[in-house]
Amino acid sequence: MTKLIDRLPQVRGEYRENAPLAPLTWFKVGGPAEILYRPADEEDLMDFLAGRPGDVPVTVIGVGSNLLIRSGGIDGVVVRLGKPFAKIEVAGERVVAGAAALDVTVAATAQKATLTGLEFLSGIPGSIGGAVRMNAGAYGSEVRDTLISVRAIDPLGHPHTLTADDLGLSYRHSDLPTDWIVTSATFQARGGNQATIAQAMQDIRDAREDTQPRRVRTGGSTFANPDGGKAWKLIDAAGCRGLRIGDAMVSELHCNFLLNMGEATAEDIEALGEEVRRRVRETSGVELRWEIRRIGKPAGQGSGEAQA
Ligand SMILES: Cc1cc2nc3c(=O)[nH]c(=O)nc-3n(C[C@H](O)[C@H](O)[C@H](O)COP(=O)(O)OP(=O)(O)OC[C@H]3O[C@@H](n4cnc5c(N)ncnc54)[C@H](O)[C@@H]3O)c2cc1C
Repeated sequence: MTKLIDRLPQVRGEYRENAPLAPLTWFKVGGPAEILYRPADEEDLMDFLAGRPGDVPVTVIGVGSNLLIRSGGIDGVVVRLGKPFAKIEVAGERVVAGAAALDVTVAATAQKATLTGLEFLSGIPGSIGGAVRMNAGAYGSEVRDTLISVRAIDPLGHPHTLTADDLGLSYRHSDLPTDWIVTSATFQARGGNQATIAQAMQDIRDAREDTQPRRVRTGGSTFANPDGGKAWKLIDAAGCRGLRIGDAMVSELHCNFLLNMGEATAEDIEALGEEVRRRVRETSGVELRWEIRRIGKPAGQGSGEAQA
């Protein structure tokens, strides 16, 4: 049988077969990518998408801070945007950031230019591509408040400019189809005051220190807050604080965080999450929605997509 790599178009970027993905995620779990592709630039990405066989699935990942990759890995091609997509430019009160730019770097760049409105990004450990996809937010602000437009490549390799309205951003959600790849985003900031911006960013750092586990393997908030409620309160009321399956544990400090305490597998973490959902359903009747994106195949499963 022809190997997948031999069916893919020539690119200027890099292909790697059977590439470990666990090191590319915060949980540090999960199986490999059949092929990991790092595009050389946007044109290379467009050529790849236009030239790849239509039956080859493509999955884009950011810096893996909201991902649980199952142990069987991901079939097809996993795209990871790197340095060529990490440029940040300031034009007047607008900030144009490549999809691979880290949120925290975008916040710092805006601060340097004395622009306000993007401070919240300093508390989110993801990339701009992931922030747009998830409509990431914290401390009362979210991407949709300042996003003007994104540039995104469709599965056939065609570029599009989409407005924030086109993206249908809502709480930790966008309508962007899962097989479109964001390559950059333009934000509207406002002229601010250095000291106020610096203080806002410091307040975010302090609040994180107090309320979130640090230097741990986690995917951040596991479940979206239900309408009018807080996921962590329901999880706490269901008696799940500190609950464990293997090395997967519900954080004692912030019980909407699941932790990999060492040797947890993706299946341990997912099973723990499902157990939390079951207990919350039983105690409060609320059906929690996974905020963490679970992708890939369970261990031992043959080829085929399994995403949630
Ligand atoms: C300690 C911790 C704290 C966190 N705190 C917050 C918080 O306060 N607020 C918050 O909103 N989130 C928070 N998160 C979750 C996470 O940081 C965000 O969801 C972030 O936006 C994910 O970005 P990423 O680059 O890591 O994306 P990934 O986790 O790699 O991917 C997430 C999703 O985005 C998609 N994606 C990634 N890049 C692209 C792209 N270029 N084009 C299209 N789709 C793309 C992926 O396919 C996937 O569906 C936290 C996570 C951790 C670990």
